[in-house]
Amino acid sequence: MKETDSMVNSEPGAHIEEWLHSCIRCGTCKYQFLEYEASCPSGEHFGFETYFASGRIWLARGLQTNQIQWDDSLLQSIFACTTCGACEVQCHAPHRGHIIDIIEDLRRIAVENVGALEAHEKFRNYVEEYHNPYKAEHHSRELVQEHNLPETAENVLFVGCTSNYRETQIRDATISVLKKAGVDFTIVDEFCCGSPLLRTGQNKSVNELMQHNADAIRSSGAKQVITSCAGCFRTLSKDYSELGLKLDVEFIHSSEMFRDLIRAGNLRVISSASDLNITYHDPCHLGRHMGVYEIPREVLSQLPVSVIEMKKNRDNAWCCGAGGGAKSAYEEMAISTGKARVQQAMETGAQKIVSACPFCTRNLRDAAGSDEIDVIDLAELVDELTVGRKPLSQSP
Ligand code: SF4
Ligand code: SF4
Repeated sequence: MKETDSMVNSEPGAHIEEWLHSCIRCGTCKYQFLEYEASCPSGEHFGFETYFASGRIWLARGLQTNQIQWDDSLLQSIFACTTCGACEVQCHAPHRGHIIDIIEDLRRIAVENVGALEAHEKFRNYVEEYHNPYKAEHHSRELVQEHNLPETAENVLFVGCTSNYRETQIRDATISVLKKAGVDFTIVDEFCCGSPLLRTGQNKSVNELMQHNADAIRSSGAKQVITSCAGCFRTLSKDYSELGLKLDVEFIHSSEMFRDLIRAGNLRVISSASDLNITYHDPCHLGRHMGVYEIPREVLSQLPVSVIEMKKNRDNAWCCGAGGGAKSAYEEMAISTGKARVQQAMETGAQKIVSACPFCTRNLRDAAGSDEIDVIDLAELVDELTVGRKPLSQSP
């Protein structure tokens, strides 16, 4: 049995109970290991112990052992965290791979004891009523008609709420790439994957969302589900199985599909000469949460662009600031964290920041404001710089 199997469907508090005494409060989680550079966005923003992982774990321990009593004043330090996972990279203690589990456990207990934050409760209600956290009119399968997609297919494109209702250029670029590469895919009547609820301790409605999405995916006959959202990718491929769902499909991030399509020649790069300098932002839920660092870079290496890495990259990447419910409840922290990332990107001299998550793209663009740097998604860049396979009649 894997270590995480014992945590399937765990009761709130199980992670805290298991790791109660393992944090030695050394503070290593606060800074980039051996570099002593900032690493934790919430700790940097608020500048107080309980806003770092070390303080949150201490708080969890105090609450679990009844040395601290529940009170509204605890909520900010519990929820003003982007769940970016940088602390898990820096910590070297045995519980290092479970710090996010502990923080999310703490959130579930907080919701049970004092209720969800108003901003989080608001989007939970929207998810329940509109099936997305944005209170947008639900797309059923209109996209299927619009793009003339089949009823059943080998692949499902799970669009994700941010692409579907806010960053629609990412949805449209992804559809365009899949179509021109001749991928057999369809779009199902998807509901929010549940990520915003799981990350904010509001787990109760997630089962219903998961069952709806599972039924929709099953009825498509697909063997593979592609998503361009890092949050959906983590939830569909990791959280659903931890919640006990058995679905005989493979979940992949769209970057993997793009890489393979270019390698196979189904997508052809339109030019080999370009003076476009870009820098790649690792989304936390794709990188640190799922270990996907190189695939988006492999896509970029096949495109006619120069990639200049930011100093903080891969597992040491600075968070965009939006995750874990921070964008809705702690906008100031989300923007100041995003501004720090934009600054790091501008120091490379790149003209564009390319990310692989609609939520990162959105927050980084909000943070960049009028700064002279564009923020785009990998799907947009791939769509712009590729064409489909040459028709056989045109082959030499
Ligand atoms: S979480 Fe890890 S790095 Fe942070 S104080 Fe505890 S043991 Fe040290
Ligand atoms: S998940 Fe990120 S924001 Fe939260 S405590 Fe860890 S490093 Fe800080």
